[in-house]
Amino acid sequence: MPNLTDLKTVRALCERHGFSLSKGFGQNFIVNPGICPKMVEAAGIDRSFGVLEIGPGIGVLTKEAALRAVKVVAVEIDRRLLPLLAETLGEFDNIKVINEDVLRLDLAALIQQEFAGLRVAVVANLPYYITSPILMKLLEERLPVESITVMVQKEAAERICAEPGTRSAGAISFAVQYYARSKILFTVSPGSFTPPPKVTSAVIQLVPQREPPVHPVSEERMFAVIRAAFGQRRKTAVNAISAGLGLPKQRLQQAVAALGLDERIRPEQLTLAQMASLSDLL
Ligand code: SAM
Repeated sequence: MPNLTDLKTVRALCERHGFSLSKGFGQNFIVNPGICPKMVEAAGIDRSFGVLEIGPGIGVLTKEAALRAVKVVAVEIDRRLLPLLAETLGEFDNIKVINEDVLRLDLAALIQQEFAGLRVAVVANLPYYITSPILMKLLEERLPVESITVMVQKEAAERICAEPGTRSAGAISFAVQYYARSKILFTVSPGSFTPPPKVTSAVIQLVPQREPPVHPVSEERMFAVIRAAFGQRRKTAVNAISAGLGLPKQRLQQAVAALGLDERIRPEQLTLAQMASLSDLL
């Protein structure tokens, strides 16, 4: 079994296949041997699990998951990686690689087809350029997934896991809090990857919840309000939401006052419950 955390082995593999890393697909492969076992361990993966991996690269995390799970399905957009994966994962009979853009896949159907009767976990070292769309897809589609354990940029991790009402909160913090419990597990230095990214990374874990913590009249409207609130940086919530949704400022002022809030409140200072109430009032 090739050692995929050994830089020389990785270089030789890439050279043999004439493969050069693509920045466009966010390819930074893990070469720190401690990381993948730690991620799989944190996800609690054992013989009762099927694992969905997004972006296997050359298969370093895929292998680790396949050593513990019943089955791993890995979705990889870059066709050029298929022959490398065939070589690195050749001796496993419980791994299926699907050459697709994960954002275009019907994941509910895939999970039903591939993981019938199994508990399901998602693990990934995510392509950073589409962190939010991937996480939102996984959460919004309310997939039957027990946990999502993924590597992201540290700054994104802080925003994703931020409690609404605190400084680092952004639109995604509200969405994540609505659908899941979230936490940062550990940080990872740039030197743990090839090529090293410019910033520090972090592994986060989201545990989707069946019951949302708030019950707005319309989920869709609440998310429209959240998007509008964060659509224009450094504006007050009143100004951003009225501009974003094309509503008279006075209506927003009245709604904010009805909730007993200061008219100059900033979007990140609102809690999820206040965002839900605000959307009900509008
Ligand atoms: N899992 C490997 C590792 O940790 O070494 C590779 C991680 S690398 C950060 C991200 C991987 O996601 C790359 O293999 C990239 O080609 C793949 N990828 C990028 N966009 C994708 C998409 N839309 N759908 C599926 N895979 C994608």
